[in-house]
Amino acid sequence: MKTLDQLQQVFDALPYPVFVKNAQHQWIYGNKAFDGLMAGKDYLGKDDRDFFPADQVKVFWTEDNRVFAGEESINEEEIGPDIFALTRKVPFKFPDGSTGLVAIILASVTTTETLNTTKVNYEAEIKKASVQLQRLRESSARRAVELEDRLSLAEMQQKMTMTMAKTDSATGLKNRLGFESDLASSVQTYGAKDRRFGLAIVDVDRFKQINDRYGHPTGDLILKTVGRRLTELPDVFTIARWGGDEFAILTEVHSDDPTIMLEGLEEARKYVFRPVRAAGRKIDISGSVGFSIFSEDAHSADELMRNADVALIIAKRSGKGMVQPFNQKIRDGLSRRMQLARDLPDAISNGDIRPFYQPIIGAENRMIHAVEALSRWTHPKYGPVSPDEFVDLAHECGLGTELDTSILNIACREVAAWLEDGTIAYLSVNVTPTEMVACDFAERFLACLARTGTTPTHICLEIVESAIVGNLDAARTNIQRLSEAGVMIALDDYGTGFSNLRALLDLPLDKLKIDRSLIEGIGTNYKVADLLTSIMQLAKTLKVGVVAEGIETNLQSAFVTSVGCDLMQGFLFSRPLSYDALNTWLSADQQQIA
Ligand code: C2E
Ligand code: CA
Ligand code: CA
Repeated sequence: MKTLDQLQQVFDALPYPVFVKNAQHQWIYGNKAFDGLMAGKDYLGKDDRDFFPADQVKVFWTEDNRVFAGEESINEEEIGPDIFALTRKVPFKFPDGSTGLVAIILASVTTTETLNTTKVNYEAEIKKASVQLQRLRESSARRAVELEDRLSLAEMQQKMTMTMAKTDSATGLKNRLGFESDLASSVQTYGAKDRRFGLAIVDVDRFKQINDRYGHPTGDLILKTVGRRLTELPDVFTIARWGGDEFAILTEVHSDDPTIMLEGLEEARKYVFRPVRAAGRKIDISGSVGFSIFSEDAHSADELMRNADVALIIAKRSGKGMVQPFNQKIRDGLSRRMQLARDLPDAISNGDIRPFYQPIIGAENRMIHAVEALSRWTHPKYGPVSPDEFVDLAHECGLGTELDTSILNIACREVAAWLEDGTIAYLSVNVTPTEMVACDFAERFLACLARTGTTPTHICLEIVESAIVGNLDAARTNIQRLSEAGVMIALDDYGTGFSNLRALLDLPLDKLKIDRSLIEGIGTNYKVADLLTSIMQLAKTLKVGVVAEGIETNLQSAFVTSVGCDLMQGFLFSRPLSYDALNTWLSADQQQIA
């Protein structure tokens, strides 16, 4: 395989300008000679309309379209006032199947130049020019043959494919591969000169919704427009489509003052994400940017990309539509995450991550009915770490199964006596959403129950809606298997997502757990009362029990009881407690609730 460098060397060594256009007529590659012809203009990602009058564009594009349709052409084109070029165009198939073209400018001649220098005999000079043109045409036909000898079309195709491998055919910008090679050389050259440059990852906010709402052609147009506007920014020296709705750019950094720099980036962001005209209407778009500076924040390409990526995630989380530079706070967060990731495997296998138990209370008798196991990790350096943080991390590190299994193991053993003597009716456990779709999940879960001697009917598995809705078939198989074995299934965090009712009706659900965010609205948001009432009706229809989560006040407790909720859970009754604390609570506090 030849590398792009070799390929570019081949084209750059040619005395003829060579360029490549995609099916949208955009230039996506030009060799050195073509750069020269374009007099240093930045043409990549642009098309003829950016440089030529409309009627000339029409001529070019008619020709292009013929080539896209499969013809080869040799044509004389007027590429400037009185500048003629003899151009050979051949069709070219991109790896994604779309058709573009490769063009070789075999000769160009300026008739006015000839005229101006002599200024004597117009007639004669024009004649001379046309003879010259004719000669050039003939010699270029010869050159074309020569060229084809030196570089067979097949070979060219193969070489172009390699260039294409670094080009995003939809936008004509570089793709990730092309970007990474640019980034690597920037790190070298800027690093050698001890100079700084910035990497920004630019993301179109809510692009999926735009696509769903206006259709894919409009979505594509928006991506192209964003890509084009990025090319119009000053100081930007590399632009790539990073994938999906993300772009990456490399830019000069002039100011040392972070405030000024941020203002500049914000201005650029506003310029790129101004409304787009598409299909006869104005579409508002917004975008988020993560930014990191070489060699201030990072000393390698990898680190720089990671920083900008993390900054982007934070920009998205903080409400989108903003520029987030990488900073010390983010660095601290990252090093915490890395430290936690390093310590996680041991923490799981040593049982340092342990279940706490939160009582689930019967709405009628106000007695404990069940417990939910919630993991707790007290880290030697960081103190208590929230499961929201480490459950996610465990999944990322491929330790989701280990974590869930370890918690299930410990919890089953610890609560065995309470289950036996009827203190509680069941133990509720959580599952990492992505685990639900593993093909052997149900079997592993049941095997774990068998090992600890736990009766499946004593266990309730809490799953979140996203785990079901995204992968209904895989989740359904597991759920059905578990349900047949007697395990109860609860739908956790109900009311936070877009409930797919049909999917729910299909599943053997035993319980709905109403999310705390809904319970919070009781007494303040009048719509919540209606919503909870209708959820109760739905639950009755489905014949499932309802657990209200996050009960913190007597008002909330009274309300959910009044609409027919069976079970409650929340700080009003008890926080999640360690095994020992729960033992104490069971003997003392239990009386107070009643
Ligand atoms: P979840 O399953 O929805 O658990 C309920 C969360 O709400 C728990 O947070 C609990 O401490 C908290 N909570 C309970 N009552 C109240 C209340 O009255 N007010 C407020 N403000 N909060 C209340 P926690 O323990 O931080 O767990 C967070 C999430 O982490 C859980 O949400 C669950 O999805 C996940 N999780 C916890 N342990 C495990 C585990 O062992 N495995 C897996 N896969 N996920 C777990
Ligand atoms: Ca839960
Ligand atoms: Ca929940």
